[in-house]
Amino acid sequence: MAKETKLEWVHHTFNPWWGCVKLSPACKNCYAEAWAKRVGSRVWGDDAERRFFSDKHWAEPLRWNRDAEAAGERRRVFCASMADVFERRSELDPWRAKLAGLIEATPQLDWLLLTKRHDLVQQLAPWREWPANVWLGMTVENQEWARQRIPRLIEIPAVVRFLSCEPLLSPLDLSRWLGDSIHWIVAGGESGAKARPTHPNWFRSLRDQCLATGAAFHFRKWGHWSPVAPAQPSRRKRYTFSNSDQSPTTMWAVGMHASGRELDGTTWNQVPRPNLL
Ligand code: SF4
Repeated sequence: MAKETKLEWVHHTFNPWWGCVKLSPACKNCYAEAWAKRVGSRVWGDDAERRFFSDKHWAEPLRWNRDAEAAGERRRVFCASMADVFERRSELDPWRAKLAGLIEATPQLDWLLLTKRHDLVQQLAPWREWPANVWLGMTVENQEWARQRIPRLIEIPAVVRFLSCEPLLSPLDLSRWLGDSIHWIVAGGESGAKARPTHPNWFRSLRDQCLATGAAFHFRKWGHWSPVAPAQPSRRKRYTFSNSDQSPTTMWAVGMHASGRELDGTTWNQVPRPNLL
């Protein structure tokens, strides 16, 4: 497990447990499932057990909180990269309650809870009042899931409500929600050899919708496919978007490290500032 994360959008990653069940198209190539298998954990699916961790693991955010306090800054924690906090299984309830206690004990940390279970958040959230240091996010990979998830997200009085548009699988029109209701978009392409390509215009459109509405925009990565041709194109797989609705564009399978995270020459690292909302 990546305990000290290198993701630019957060400072740390914390997993209250490992394991999940696939739910929507974004889950198709779930990296967490692949990673768990690689390290010998069989924790995916309804019938598999979940994996839980010791007190030592649960003490780490307390240290991050002390460090953030000593540095005089707030730090963001992504929770969870190897699970969905709002999965419905009765054995997870005590661990969700434990997570609530941890969040309360770490006021210097902003906890980013990202879910695909839009219909379970209200029911399973382990608190009545939404804590001031919890940012709630939902994955929106295409317009259909935007239509289903965003109305449920904006019902919840989290200090920051955000969307993870990764892997982005279609163009999105989010303009009616951005700004007052949705404060932040974190977008990215899919990684790994089976990754599905994202048309660059779909990212550009999200960037422009954020600029037009005042929502923050963070471009996390291109992922496996890049719009920039590599030095030796004949050695790389390519994919051409030729649909009449999209500008014809060729994407190159160069891998996540080579594709980088610049969008039209700019690195988008915007993060919302809750006290200004
Ligand atoms: S909800 Fe997240 S962790 Fe669960 S299967 Fe889908 S992508 Fe993987």
